[in-house]
Parts: sequence; structure tokens; C-alpha cells
Amino acid sequence: MTRDNEDAPEGWVAGMSPDEFREASARVADWIAGYRSNVADYPVTPDVNPGDIAALLPAHAPEAPESMSAILADLEDTILPGLTHWYHPGFMAYFGSSASAPGILAEFVTAALNVNAMLWRTSPAATELELRVVEWVCEFVGLPGDFSGVILDTASNSTFTALTAARHRADPEIRERGLAGRAELGALTVYVSEHAHSSQDRAVIAAGIGLQHLRRVPADEDYAMRPDELARLIRADREAGCIPIMVSGTIGTTSSTAVDPCEELAEICEREDVWFHVDSAYAGPAASLPELRREFRGWERADSIVLNPHKWMFTPMDCSVLVYRDPEAIRAALALTPEYLSSDFEALDLMDYGLALGRRFRALKLWFIFRHFGAEGLRQRFRYHIGLAQDLVSWLDADPRFDLLGSAKFATVCLTAIPPSGEDPYEWNRRLMAAVNEHRKVFLSHTVLDGRYVIRVSISNETVRQETVRQAFDLLCEEHDRMCAKGIES
Ligand code: PLP
Repeated sequence: MTRDNEDAPEGWVAGMSPDEFREASARVADWIAGYRSNVADYPVTPDVNPGDIAALLPAHAPEAPESMSAILADLEDTILPGLTHWYHPGFMAYFGSSASAPGILAEFVTAALNVNAMLWRTSPAATELELRVVEWVCEFVGLPGDFSGVILDTASNSTFTALTAARHRADPEIRERGLAGRAELGALTVYVSEHAHSSQDRAVIAAGIGLQHLRRVPADEDYAMRPDELARLIRADREAGCIPIMVSGTIGTTSSTAVDPCEELAEICEREDVWFHVDSAYAGPAASLPELRREFRGWERADSIVLNPHKWMFTPMDCSVLVYRDPEAIRAALALTPEYLSSDFEALDLMDYGLALGRRFRALKLWFIFRHFGAEGLRQRFRYHIGLAQDLVSWLDADPRFDLLGSAKFATVCLTAIPPSGEDPYEWNRRLMAAVNEHRKVFLSHTVLDGRYVIRVSISNETVRQETVRQAFDLLCEEHDRMCAKGIES
């Protein structure tokens, strides 16, 4: 290693020299390019048990420096065999997250710059790029120009931030006085569909609302929130002295990608003066497709919306966009400026729009991605995925072994296999999915709808092709037939 500090004491451990960095980053770039080209050769999920990888890792950090070659060799030999490959074409579990090349390059640059955009002055371009890129996102998904927003880490945090704003709007004194011991203050209540994501529950816990004040509004046969039930619950709560503060509708629920009727929800929220939040963490980017806009009707009337480019917009983790119509309502909930963070500039400080002070320069990757693909390149990929989902729907539809559930409006398909009579459908499908995943060629995940065990196939990966979706279908058929021939215990 070369000497990197002329004042260094004897025995100083040198960091990387510029030349060593150049060489190592070229190797890493080469390794990443190889990984991306060959990812389909790995098993999509690792064949390991809990603790297997930990057992291979030294219990103590090394005292002496190690070479980059040794570190990269261990990455290959120890870490990689224990990874689930989210970039694998067969990754169709949960909602995917695939890191596109411009996103990876932007992350590299982001790490190198390592700016903290907490204040405008701590990196003016980071703040101004973030605000501009969020405007691009709004335009891309067809939201009107009165929306603005910020980029946070996750939808969980975005929803939590929106909830603090709703709480503040209901009672600005909560900032100072809190919720506990306030006999004069009725219980604050929050309304979500019975199919809403658990991040809503967590936000309710973290905001001190309490899960017993989270109303899970019944859904209709399409798994969409029922507005009549919402109105009824709000009315009943008001009569009981509660204070309804937020309704959170979902466009693209996690289980079945159902769409809550946002037009009607907006109507109710406006009438009742309740904050209207929309969780579109998964489906949001698809609003860029004119042919899907109808699914988003009414979301433009929301007070806040979250959508996650790190789900279906080829952006590496983490990147969640929170947009709102009244920035002051968000700012008022959490903003706080201690002396050591005060500055003389008349500028927007991003730290005021969320819980975290320090924040990564996430805007850079969205900027790279928008510019690399162009809006049209992104729309092409959404349409391609939706087309693949429709291929799968048509194969399932034509096959008496399977039932489809939900509407597959986006690119996630929900299905159940129909077992031979006498077999428990729940257990059958649980075993079927496990058997399919055991091949490690595709990775599917499940949910429960109407008490039925449902297998989800979610298509959002940059690498997925029709042959991969066909492979998932063929494996489902093959394992189903094998179980029929041998019985469930096989
Ligand atoms: N909302 C919906 C509809 C989701 O499907 C998910 C995760 O899948 C989330 C919120 C939470 O996302 P995050 O991991 O960004 O907090």
C-alpha cells in the first residue's frame, strides 16, 4: 500500500491510493457487469438454513488490514451463496425491486459524493435536484402541478410522515402536549382497507394513535375498500367522540393489487375534513400509462400520496417518493431547527419534511434513471410486464387446474390450484408453492384471500422474459400433477 498521509505516525494503515481505487473499482464494475449478465445462472433463492452464513463469518472484525482481493473473494464464496437474487428473472415474489444499470451507477456516484441533503446549504444541488425530480415524477404519473414532495427511504416512512401531518392538522397542540393524559381529546382514528399494507399499522403504532384506533374498513368482492362502510365507520366514531384524522386508500394492494375507489374516498374525506392519503407504493409508476389512468381516478384529490420507484421503477433500494398538496402541512408536523442547524438562507431545508435529519442523495438515481430510459423507456417496460402478466392470466384461464383471484390490473397475478376432492385447498396450495420454489428457478410468494391460500406471481424485474413466466406456469402445472399422482405428502 502507498503512504496516504505524510503526517502519519509509524505503523499507519494506509487507505486506498487513487490508483488502487481506480483498479479496484474497475474490478468491481467488471464483477457487477458479470453478475448482471449471469444472474439467471444462480439459484434464485439460496439453499441455506438460518445461521449457516453466520457460522462462516469470523466472530471478530479483523485487526489487521486485508486486501481487496480477499474481500471480493469472500463476497463470491461466502456471501453470494447465501443471497436471494432480486435481479434474477425468476424473482416473482412479494413486489420485486430491480436495480437498473443507471441506478447502480448513480448509487456509486452517490456514495462517492456522500452528501447529506439535510439543509439546503449542506448541498444546494442535492436539495434542488430532489425537488425537481419529484416534480418529474408527478408529471410522469399525471398528477397536477400543485403536488410537490420529497424522497424518503421507504413507503413505511412516507406513510408515517403523512400520518404525522394528519395528526397535526387534527390538533396542532399534539406536537407540544403529546397524546397521553389528554382527557379532553377524543381518540384519534385512522381508516384503511382490510387489505392495506402493514406499514399503515406500524405508522399508527409509531404515531401514538394505537392499533385499537385503526379501523379496517371491509372490502368488496374485488378486495377494494367499501366507501359506504368507511362513511358508516367515520359516522359511528364521531358519535362516540373520536376524532377521525386520516383515511388511507391503496391503489395496488399488496395481496391482490386491488384498487380502492379513491374518487369516493376523496369525496368522503373532503366532506368529513379528514386527511386523505393514498398508498400506491407498488402501482404508482404505472399511472404513467394513459390506458391505466382510470385506476388512479381520484388520487389527485389526495392530501398525500406515496409511490416507490424502488419497487416497479428499476431503482435500487431505497427510494420512496412522498408527494403532497400542502407542503406547509407536512412541515408543520415535524419541522424543528436547533441553533446548530440554523442558516441565513431563505431556502427549503429537506430535513423539515420527515423524521430523519440526515438523508441520502437519493434524487441522483432517479435523475439518472429518467434520463437514461426516458419516460417512454420506462412506460415500455411497464407495458411489457403487464403483457407478460396477461399471458400468464390467459394460460391460467384456459387451464381447469387453476383459479384466478383478483383482477391482475397491473403485473401481479393471484392464483390457486384446485386440489383433488378431499384435499384441503389451503394446505394443497401451501405445499404446491413450496414445491415450486424448491426448484430454485423461480421464487413465488403467497397471501391469503377470503381464507384461501393464494399464490402470487409478481412480474416487475428488468430481467424477466416470457420464457421465465412460462417456466413458473409450467412448474406450477408439473408440481400440481405430481402431487395429484402421489398425494400431498409426496
Ligand atoms: N405499501 C404497499 C402497498 C406495499 O406493497 C409495501 C411493500 O410491499 C409497502 C407499502 C411498504 O413498502 P416499504 O418497504 O417501502 O416500506
